[in-house]
Amino acid sequence: MSLFDKYAPLQARVDVMMKMGRDALGLQFDDIISTTRARIGNREILLAGTNNYLGLTFDEDCMKAAKDAVDNHGTGTTGSRIANGTYSEHIDLEKSLADHLGMPSCIVFTTGYQTNLSAISGLAGDKDVVFMDADAHACIIDGTRLTGASTIRFRHNNPEDLDKRLKRQGEIEGGNALVVIEGLYSMFGDVAPIDEFVEVTHNHGGYLFIDEAHSYGVFGPTGCGLAEEQGVLDKVDFISGTFSKSLASVGGFCASRHPEFEILRKVMRPYMFTASATPANICAALAAVEKVKQGEALRANLKARGQQLHKGLSEMGYDLCADASPVIAVRRPNEVVAAMEWNGLMENGVYVNLAVPPGTPQSSSLLRISLSAAHTEDDINIILKAFSDLKDNQGQLMSDMSAKLQG
Ligand code: PMP
Repeated sequence: MSLFDKYAPLQARVDVMMKMGRDALGLQFDDIISTTRARIGNREILLAGTNNYLGLTFDEDCMKAAKDAVDNHGTGTTGSRIANGTYSEHIDLEKSLADHLGMPSCIVFTTGYQTNLSAISGLAGDKDVVFMDADAHACIIDGTRLTGASTIRFRHNNPEDLDKRLKRQGEIEGGNALVVIEGLYSMFGDVAPIDEFVEVTHNHGGYLFIDEAHSYGVFGPTGCGLAEEQGVLDKVDFISGTFSKSLASVGGFCASRHPEFEILRKVMRPYMFTASATPANICAALAAVEKVKQGEALRANLKARGQQLHKGLSEMGYDLCADASPVIAVRRPNEVVAAMEWNGLMENGVYVNLAVPPGTPQSSSLLRISLSAAHTEDDINIILKAFSDLKDNQGQLMSDMSAKLQG
């Protein structure tokens, strides 16, 4: 019995997927040409699965900010903020995000994953109870695993179910309820009724934490996210987000309307014991926050492209997981068909995400598309054509799939 034997079933699944063609979960691009185009070999690929919602990774100001940061302060921070010090850039970004969200406290982190790990594990103590959405992202689940708090899952996007569970829980002796939801859900592209969650949570005296990783920059009149869009931003207790999507960098933040949140800098282990974000990452995000604040035109294009794609795919009869948004997930019958079709799309020069269990809700297999404000109407037509070809060639694809499974 080796250490790796427990992974034999997973290896078998990977082997089947590999028979379908490329390694969808380990794809290598030979060149990234622009926000929406990459090259593999001598083939240009249209990127439709990057989470680059505002298309800012190639924005001149964001790129210049990152380059200047390297020139001014070097390539790395070489340590954590509590052990090795904070750079002025970290503070500037925290102030900028706090100001944007209208909250007195904001802490920046090295990744979005580490943000939720830190904030949730710091906020929830032994006597607290974390109520989380059934479709919570891995970093929310992992964050609660670092705490002594008990965890209760409620039905996805269902404030009534949360209400029922909070009632059933009753008074929490010596502790509090921390309710954790997301804004735009990354896999199905559906959005939370945040206003209702605020009401239910506060009616029971709990605190509401929202991960707006996929919605900061994308929703709201000034891009603060879905809580802003639904008019309840000032009532939310904690908002977390990432720099790796709309902010075109790497890192994350958590902001709070409670100034006491600052004390968490001295207790969050994933914050205290890892190196802080690099000057280049921080400065690119800082420049991107300014673009978000004035990003109405970008958001309008992103919304229009989402509607265009959603309409086109619906008209072709595809089973879509939610209404139009920058994330559009096409439900497939199983992961082998999804992998085969993912390869079919790649053959047509279109890259989307292959999403399979356990990372998906309801154990679904998905062809997941994430759009960018940099996509044009023509780009969406290219994606639609690739999906239409998939439909037209379904018979051939399925017989190829059977041959590959037997081969
Ligand atoms: N929260 C959600 C909802 C996410 O989807 C992700 C990653 N896609 C993260 C947090 C983590 O962000 P990052 O990749 O920037 O670490």
